[in-house]
This record gives sequence, structure tokens and C-alpha cells, in this order.
Amino acid sequence: MKNKTFIGFNKPFLAGNELTYIQQAVSEKHISGNGKFTKLCQSFFEKRYGFKKCLLTTSCTDALEMAALLINIQQGDEVIIPSFTFVSTANAFVLRGAKIVFADSQSNNPNISAETIAPLINARTKAIVVVHYAGVACDMDPVMDLANQHKLWVIEDAAQAIDSYYKSRPLGSIGHLAAFSFHETKNIISGEGGMLVINDDRFFDRSEILWEKGTNRSAFFKGEVDKYGWVDVGSSFLPSEIIAAFLYAQLECLESIQAKRKAKWKQYFEKLTPLQEGANVKLPHTPTYASGNAHIFYLVCDSETQRDALIAFLKDLGIHAVFHYQVLHQAEFLGATQNNISLPHAEAFSKKLLRLPLYIELDPTEITFIVNSIRQFFTS
Ligand SMILES: *Cc1c(COP(=O)(O)O)cnc(C)c1O
Repeated sequence: MKNKTFIGFNKPFLAGNELTYIQQAVSEKHISGNGKFTKLCQSFFEKRYGFKKCLLTTSCTDALEMAALLINIQQGDEVIIPSFTFVSTANAFVLRGAKIVFADSQSNNPNISAETIAPLINARTKAIVVVHYAGVACDMDPVMDLANQHKLWVIEDAAQAIDSYYKSRPLGSIGHLAAFSFHETKNIISGEGGMLVINDDRFFDRSEILWEKGTNRSAFFKGEVDKYGWVDVGSSFLPSEIIAAFLYAQLECLESIQAKRKAKWKQYFEKLTPLQEGANVKLPHTPTYASGNAHIFYLVCDSETQRDALIAFLKDLGIHAVFHYQVLHQAEFLGATQNNISLPHAEAFSKKLLRLPLYIELDPTEITFIVNSIRQFFTS
């Protein structure tokens, strides 16, 4: 019997030095947070992307929770976010008592835009959280203009967007604050992990306090105060050195990780482009202002029925393709009062979008097999 093909959706990539650096952290006996590897990672990001200040966190979810604390969200404040996103984009602000207001995606791209955000702004609006879906930039200039005009904070949920650019500016450097994820499904990983980027210097001091459980411990270690104590709210947001050591090994290989992912993304894109002519299926749209990081390769089918049939067809051939977010505005958690709005573009992406396997170990012959299988689905 022939071995059945199995191509999984994701395989976490190991750069090579992860265990060496973990071993180093362990033998140097600094394994709690904010040690050598944490500082190495933070300064790597600050130098490479010009982020003003970086703090590693235990997840992107935690970084978003820190952002909600920093901008001082109060009960009843409104926060505008996309409906087509992960729950953490909403939950971080819900935890502080915010009302979430959902913006629609664009027709050709899952991201929200100044046009879909503007009608939702009122006197209670406090912040806009944009998500750069699949690592493709939102159109940030009009969003920042809108925010400045209404004195709103802008937070970039850049969970998927490491090493992506908007008009040559790195994503995560544009909003007042930004949150990244190093979850094992992202491009650069540490198992669980994340980072808060602070671009507005008004938040510098307080961000360290929230990060260190509401104490001024960081200022104490820098010799700025002679003892440290409880000065604010806070939580345990910082990861251990073991996580930071793992992450640092990944950062050393960032260039090659990105180059390899981009080559695979490009192979899909070139080989699937002819399909757009005959079949009713769309490839990802990258606006001219955006330069992506090959985080996700997706297709947008003609209908939910077609999408689900394609997933089943590929599954039979041993290929694991998956859909993505359920729109948040229809979540059971919110209840009927918020469920009955209509966001047609977000709903369409939820029903029609399908993600293909994309990871470093996926080899070109496997991509060819996946592409041919998709062609076969649309021509049979
Ligand atoms: C992955 C992801 C998150 C959550 O990241 P964690 O590090 O797992 O907390 C949040 N938002 C978006 C858009 C994501 O893709």
C-alpha cells in the first residue's frame, strides 16, 4: 500500500540555537524575567525597526491588555476594532469595561480602513485597534489622520505582522502602541510569547511599572529610586528568560526565515494566478502601500459551500487547509443586542476564506501537489 500523503497546516520552525541559549540562561542562573536575553530581544527590535521602546510579554494578548491599561480604558469607553479578528483584540478592552464597536473589512481585503471606521466615531470613542491581517498593512495614514482629528489612541494589533511594512515604515511603528505575537503559529516564535511596542514616550515610564506588577522595580534597578514599592496597578506581564532565550535564537535567523516564507508564498501566488481567470476564486490582494511578510496564504472562494467543499476535497488528499475567524459581532458572548448588525465584507471573509499550509519545511513539490489539487477541484 502506498503511504498516504499528509501535509499539515503548520509546523513550528526551529532555528537551531534555541536549546543552546536556554542552556545558557539556565547555567547563568537568571531564569526569571528581564535578564540578558530579554534585553537582547528588546534591543534587537528597537534597532532593526526603530521601535521607540519594546517590552517582551508572555503573549500578544497580554501586550493588548497592557495597552488597554496604558490608555486608561474606563467603563463605557468605546473601542473600534475589526469584526474579522481573533478574540484577544476585543477581550483585552472588554476586561477594562469597554464597549466594543465593530468595523467592517474592505471588499478586497480583510483589513478595516478609515472609511469603515469614521462613521463609528462618537464622543465616547477612545481608541481604534487595527489588525494587519495576514501581515498585510492597513492603510495607516488616513487612520492616523482620523485619530488625530478626534484625539483617539491608535493601537496596532500586529500579532501577524512582524517584518511587514507600510510605505517603507515597519508595522508596529505607526500607532501609539503596538502588540506582536510569537505564538508557535506565527513567523517568529517562542511557543507562547509577545511584545508591546511603545511609540509614544508619554507611556514609557508607566509601561515599565505595569509590566513589573505595579511596582517601580525597573526604576530601582536603573538606580533612579533607592527602594521600590507599589505605585500603580499592574500584572505579571513579563516572560521568563527561558522564553526570551528561545526567541533570541529565532531572531538571529529572521532574515532567512522571512526569505524562505516569501519564496513559498510567491510559488503559491504565481502558480495559482491563472486560476483567477477561469474559476470564481480570488488570491490575496496586496495594496501598493503594503509589503507583506508571507504570514498567511489564503484563497477567497465564491461561497461558503464551495469553500467547505474545497476543504473536504483537499482533506481527502491529505492536505490540511483551514478557514479562519468567525466574525466577532455575531459571537454568542455578546448577545442579541450587538449581534444584529450587518458587516457584509467581514461576514464574507469568514465564510469564504481558506488558508493553505505555509511553513518553512513545506517543500516546493508539496506546494506543486497542493496547487494541482486545487486546480483539479476547480476544473472537475
Ligand atoms: C495570534 C493573534 C493574537 C493572539 O496572540 P497570542 O500571542 O496568542 O496572545 C491576537 N491577535 C491576532 C490578530 C492574532 O493573529
